[in-house]
Amino acid sequence: MLRLELPGAASLRAGVLLACACVAPACTVASQELQPLTPDALARTWEAERLPLPAPPLVTHAIVEARVARLVRESGGLVTSEVLGTSVEGRAIHHLTIGRGAKPVLLWSQMHGDEPTATSALFDLCQWLVRHRQEPIVARLLDSLTLHIVPMLNPDGAERFQRRNAQFIDINRDALHLQTPEGRLLKGLRDRVEPVIGFNLHNQNWRTSVGTPPQPAAVSLLAVAYDEARSEDPRRQLTKRTCSVIVEALRPLASGRIGRYDDEFEVRAFGDNITKWGTGVVLIETGPWPGPEPDRTLVQLNFVALVTALDAIASARVSNVDPSLYERLPENQSDLFHTLVMGGTVIPGTGVTPFRADVGIVGTRVVRQGPGGRVLQWQGSIQDVGDLRVYGALETVDASGLFVSPAYTAAAVGDEVSLPPGNATASTPRVVPGGPARLWLLRGGSVPDRYRLERIVDLP
Ligand SMILES: [Zn+2]
Repeated sequence: MLRLELPGAASLRAGVLLACACVAPACTVASQELQPLTPDALARTWEAERLPLPAPPLVTHAIVEARVARLVRESGGLVTSEVLGTSVEGRAIHHLTIGRGAKPVLLWSQMHGDEPTATSALFDLCQWLVRHRQEPIVARLLDSLTLHIVPMLNPDGAERFQRRNAQFIDINRDALHLQTPEGRLLKGLRDRVEPVIGFNLHNQNWRTSVGTPPQPAAVSLLAVAYDEARSEDPRRQLTKRTCSVIVEALRPLASGRIGRYDDEFEVRAFGDNITKWGTGVVLIETGPWPGPEPDRTLVQLNFVALVTALDAIASARVSNVDPSLYERLPENQSDLFHTLVMGGTVIPGTGVTPFRADVGIVGTRVVRQGPGGRVLQWQGSIQDVGDLRVYGALETVDASGLFVSPAYTAAAVGDEVSLPPGNATASTPRVVPGGPARLWLLRGGSVPDRYRLERIVDLP
């Protein structure tokens, strides 16, 4: 198909010449190749120029609407927008267009309402393109590509911070039935612009890991299959090479934390069907990251991945990239805890004799409506008790030499505490799978059944 062809040498040369016309000293040699964007430089640019948006889970549809309007207003005509249509509950779904190139590219985020990282990254991408439009690399991108961007495809889900839309349908399993207005809008846009490639932007579970020992899978990539045989054609070769470009870009920033997503064909999914309909799709699944501000790094990784991938497609560099960089990535797993308490002696609160065990706590993020607006919180529970050495965690706590018990009261670190006798009631917390994520780490004293509280383990 003609649209899948990458630009030949002639158009590449034209791009370089045009780019050189914009800048004087650095580009005196007409044939000089443009210096590629480095991941570190892009990461620094993002740090310096990112938009002052709230953490992605707190970005509402109203914020998206305001940001779209402002971007169009400040872009001097470079960015245009249309309302593609409305969600089940009547929220506008926006379609931004940027660039003037012959190759259309489609990017959409937040098809699942509680998967918000890329929405922020897409706004940072647009802002970067507008701000740097005179620079040769950005000019080449805008001359070669026309980006069609749908930030927040599922605004009703985003409003509730839930995966599904207001019909409680998973839009990403609606590509054949097309019972969701959001899904119909996405298909309509694909059919209208016939993109050469699509980027389907999601977040994955906070348990997602990669490698041995398991590391947090910051990003998982998928060159989406279009049939059960996972066949390869020019569409899929392009998406595999694009995934390899992203691997190269993210390695310096997230070494050992990039995985490959299962490429089994899912007959109902949008990525798979959009590939079948003619547009190869790259799935980017953003995953867990440790520390108090994970969103910051995750948005940054998305930004670096998207800019580098788009530049590689615009410059045709993508056709020289080895697809095995992507193919050799380890497949992602679910072997990550939020917190692992290792090597303690558990006094579980069930009346059984204390025993040596690790305790694994899982966490998910929830958005609640507080008195002052939306608040982001962790919700955790104990997932496993036993020998958990084969798992990874965002935070590992060494409990050797300590007892591990439920946190029974509001005692503070340093306090002397005693534990309730033997058989606790069903309402008392217990260190068992499904039990609460709040634990005491205790040191036994010389007095029986008196302990010193050394540490409280809790989700942030
Ligand atoms: Zn998703």
